[in-house]
Amino acid sequence: MRKTEQRAVILDELRKCRNHPGADELYARVRGRLPRISLATVYRNLELMAARGLIRRLDPAAGSRRFDPVADDHGHFRCTACGRVEDLPFPLELPRPDRRHPWVRQRLIQGGQAEYFGLCPGCRKEKRQAERTA
Ligand SMILES: [Zn+2]
Ligand SMILES: [Zn+2]
Repeated sequence: MRKTEQRAVILDELRKCRNHPGADELYARVRGRLPRISLATVYRNLELMAARGLIRRLDPAAGSRRFDPVADDHGHFRCTACGRVEDLPFPLELPRPDRRHPWVRQRLIQGGQAEYFGLCPGCRKEKRQAERTA
């Protein structure tokens, strides 16, 4: 199996996921098609594709690293109860860095990502029901 073919399968499986999976979850999916692949190989390919800008690597403030087949800048919502990460259905713009600020002038800022967090519809419903029965 050539490396480029492995990478194509990993990218294909990532594109089928709507939930911004972690490496473990993708590994389980990819193994269904490439039974001899290792978790380390899946992880290495994900990091490589992220470094090349083909996919996005998400390092949430809490929880484990996840991967996103959509490389363009877009915002996310992370459920603090179940860990699900969703794309925002509307653009979320970060404030532009103030170029006069010395900290900003020393750096080349190439991008940024915004993240909302809270409860997803399912977890919100569960919380309400728990409160009602309490
Ligand atoms: Zn949730
Ligand atoms: Zn996303």
